[in-house]
Amino acid sequence: VIEMGQPEHSAVTTCAYCGVGCSFKAEMQGEKIVRMVPYKGGKANDGHSCVKGRFAYGYATHKDRITKPMIRAKITDPWREVSWEEAINHAASEFKRIQAQYGKDSVGGITSSRCTNEEAYLVQKLVRAAFGNNNVDTCARVCHSPTGYGLMSTLGTSAGTQDFASVDHTDVILVIGANPTDGHPVFGSRMKKRIRAGAKLIVADPRKIDLVKSPHVQADHHLPLKPGSNVAFINAFAHVIVTEGLIDEAYVRERCELGDFEAWARFVADERHSPEASEQYTGVDPAELRAAARLYAKGGNAGIYYGLGVTEHSQGSTMVMGMANIAMATGNIGKLGAGVNPLRGQNNVQGSCDMGSFPHEFTGYRHVSDDATRESFEALWGAKLDSAPGLRITNMLDEAVDGSFKGMYIQGEDIAQSDPDTHHVTSGLKAMECIVIQDIFLNETAKYAHVFLPGASFLEKDGTFTNAERRISRVRKVMSPLGGYGDWEGTVLLSNALGYPMSYTHPSEIMDEIASLTPSFTGVSYAKLDELGSVQWPCNENAPNGTPMMHVDRFVRGKGKFMITEYVATEERAGPRFPLILTTGRILSQYNVGAQTRRTENSRWHEEDILEIHPFDAEARGIVHGDLVSLESRSGDIALKAVISERMQPGVVYTTFHHAKTGANVITTDFSDWATNCPEYKVTAVQVRRTNRP
Ligand code: SF4
Repeated sequence: VIEMGQPEHSAVTTCAYCGVGCSFKAEMQGEKIVRMVPYKGGKANDGHSCVKGRFAYGYATHKDRITKPMIRAKITDPWREVSWEEAINHAASEFKRIQAQYGKDSVGGITSSRCTNEEAYLVQKLVRAAFGNNNVDTCARVCHSPTGYGLMSTLGTSAGTQDFASVDHTDVILVIGANPTDGHPVFGSRMKKRIRAGAKLIVADPRKIDLVKSPHVQADHHLPLKPGSNVAFINAFAHVIVTEGLIDEAYVRERCELGDFEAWARFVADERHSPEASEQYTGVDPAELRAAARLYAKGGNAGIYYGLGVTEHSQGSTMVMGMANIAMATGNIGKLGAGVNPLRGQNNVQGSCDMGSFPHEFTGYRHVSDDATRESFEALWGAKLDSAPGLRITNMLDEAVDGSFKGMYIQGEDIAQSDPDTHHVTSGLKAMECIVIQDIFLNETAKYAHVFLPGASFLEKDGTFTNAERRISRVRKVMSPLGGYGDWEGTVLLSNALGYPMSYTHPSEIMDEIASLTPSFTGVSYAKLDELGSVQWPCNENAPNGTPMMHVDRFVRGKGKFMITEYVATEERAGPRFPLILTTGRILSQYNVGAQTRRTENSRWHEEDILEIHPFDAEARGIVHGDLVSLESRSGDIALKAVISERMQPGVVYTTFHHAKTGANVITTDFSDWATNCPEYKVTAVQVRRTNRP
């Protein structure tokens, strides 16, 4: 039942689900929210919203919310409700004991892409200044870390190049490994509008997503590449561009490092990268691939939009570089309607990365070994900081299993459900002596925790989120935190108890500190956000009102750098025992592991994860529509219902990961991107068997 009534007051805030970052008016009666109305003045959504955002407030007041701090000595003990003071003191004394016993590097922290910029900043500050190490990582590790690495290497900054409005000027839309109409619905609709107005569409995806053929749009080319073949695919695309003389030579000569370009052009021109030679890996019809590459290179303004189907691979970073290569080669960066644009999954993936959540970087992507940068942080924070990069999430868990890593502060992240190879993750969690969870629900990871601090929803705190187009928007508090404190306040209390004092009266002061330390944020303040509605970073003396489009006259790194992108097949192979490849994704009504959407009106539209399987593979196994099947990989097995679907190609099956009870990550592998350790969620060799017929 959706509660309705006349609002008494309202505030403009930002959706806390996907990376589109839609603005909403939260309409209130006292402390009770009655409606979320899409806000016309929101520059990311222009008054539109999707079915997730409208009902998001449902989870904020759900009965499952944990509103009291809790502690327990062992994870087999029952939780005991305590005061904030007792919980914080217990957590701090445990972290201090562990560091005294096992060394300062035996603890670390995880920031959340669901929390605000200010909260991510404070968690990394706590880890670096109070714990005294760089063992901080973010859940972006498991989704878009290759975006950061790939775009930084080629273009000089770890972010998408355009604003969403740029798509209104795109002539050729190339969607790779993304499903915008389900994952980023408001932007997906904008994309469809542009396609209906005449833009051409190329979709590179193993599955026939809605954009391939729907009542309103149809792709000019669908390239159903095999999961795991992305880099072979992009090299074949580049081969056509180079060997058919489709390079924008004037652009490359003026804007790019020529030596690197020439080496790359020689590399991709080799016959082994031709669409015909690559077909054995990609499975894509060479003639179709050639036609698509020609359209991309010569069809006018061409924009690439991509998602986790690019990044969550053992060569995720290589593929991001490959896309930047073809965009530079065709002059498709630095102008309207073009660019390389990651569609970020969570609301604040971009922001949590910007805020220094990685173990090797401070805010604004500056390396911890850079003396001048580190000294500026030391001077303001009054702490001696470590110059060596710390541990990534995966390394923290590995070291926990080995016995040298013992404690973790996890804010707003459920690694037991969302990280790959669940058995390994839970082994690491079980081996630790103090896990502090700060969250709004008792999530799967909390089963292994010793301290639980009640988190605050986006409606209960002030702050900012940064969306996929680098747009910083305000999050406004419209109700009091049910647990007593905003998440940022919990971090302040913990830091103070650890002996490193923090003192802020409002998140605006945290943003002022971020701005004072971060060159791309020097012009950002709450006053400016109130005045302009939102700003896109860089926002500084060169761009006081922000930067909708990057790399206009020159790349951030100076000249664009082409990178060699050798295809190396993933070690995860189909074979006689596991003959099919599983890939995963999302659906429109649900968000990530479903912890929020399953506690809203959206639960009506998706009650369980299902397995999509091609009729050919189903028939070979005697499976009919609706059968319960087991899905088994080298890591484990799960059970779910089969849906027979021609969206799939033979040999590939697909599921979503919105429900803990099916737990797709039980069966995903522990292979990961060579550069960033982003897990290879998108390629798992599996077998499917019918278990019974309901
Ligand atoms: Fe907008 Fe994404 Fe929220 Fe939907 S889920 S309302 S598209 S920000």
